[in-house]
Amino acid sequence: MQTRDRIAQSSVPATLGVIGDGWTLSLLTALVGNTLRFEELMKVLTIPRSTLSTRLRHLIDHGLIAPHPYCERPLRFEYALSERGAALLPVLALADAFDVEHGGQPATLRHAPSHGAPHPLRAVACCAACGAAVEARHVVARYAPLPGPRAAPVTTPKQKRVSRSRSARKPLWRARDVLEDAWAAHVVAALFMGAQRFTELLDATQAAPNIVSERLQRLADARLLRHVTAAEREREREHDAADHDAAGHGAAGQDTAGHSAAGHSASERRAAPSVYRLNARGLALYPLVVALIAYGDEGRRVPSLTLTHRCGAPLRLRLSCAGCTDLEYGVPLLPSSVSFAMQVDLCATPTPT
Ligand SMILES: [Zn+2]
Ligand SMILES: [Zn+2]
Repeated sequence: MQTRDRIAQSSVPATLGVIGDGWTLSLLTALVGNTLRFEELMKVLTIPRSTLSTRLRHLIDHGLIAPHPYCERPLRFEYALSERGAALLPVLALADAFDVEHGGQPATLRHAPSHGAPHPLRAVACCAACGAAVEARHVVARYAPLPGPRAAPVTTPKQKRVSRSRSARKPLWRARDVLEDAWAAHVVAALFMGAQRFTELLDATQAAPNIVSERLQRLADARLLRHVTAAEREREREHDAADHDAAGHGAAGQDTAGHSAAGHSASERRAAPSVYRLNARGLALYPLVVALIAYGDEGRRVPSLTLTHRCGAPLRLRLSCAGCTDLEYGVPLLPSSVSFAMQVDLCATPTPT
């Protein structure tokens, strides 16, 4: 199956179409374990009033945030995550974990385990069947045949414009920057689904060449991926032929791995195109991409793809917290034990009603 069809068939575009937008993740994160009023959200996020208003409307319309009236006259609302919004916890927690570990950021979520003191959440994605930490190279992806015509692209022109204008000033150092720039996230998802060449990435994302090349450059600047030129690949192959132990690594250990194996014919070697490969830092985004797919697949009759873990079981993510004591580490994370780590004192000044 073509990478383009894999992407179209997966639930990634639909999910990114909703959350891949500036401020959206920050807003959802602030509401983890909290019910907040408009003024409180403004204070917590230091977000302009009009921006908050637009983003709240967007997330209410998509059923991720639920408004609850707390005052009849005048009518005022406070905001909480809906059930569907709360189901994004693995995505938010894994983005946070990446940003702490690979972006030097403070944790934005807090864990209050049943044993021990509250501490910054350090979410780890494990295989629910065997308990091992999830890594791209331990997972095999299988794509079901397309059931019908491809879904139309979900990214609206408005969101494209938002992504593009943000892209000019925002580096992609954090996982949340990647998620909030829907095109960058599409490129990363395409690499995990086996796309390697520029033309394959164009095909997979259905984006304009300048958009894809600009995102590739910024992902490379953030040391998430590496451009391997034709000459470098040629040298790799010669090295591989000399030493079979040093076989090249595919982006995600999927069916692309065969292309980097030693023993290609002379004509194939001449045609070796340059490719883009996720490096160690980029591969660490894998659990997050799996969480995105799992979130989008929820409620679908047919999952977009089947992921099989090396233990033989279908891959289902189970989160635990690495910041916990021995007593709790490895215990499945209870969603109710996680909340946003509030940095401001909301009681300092009374909120207007
Ligand atoms: Zn397993
Ligand atoms: Zn913990």
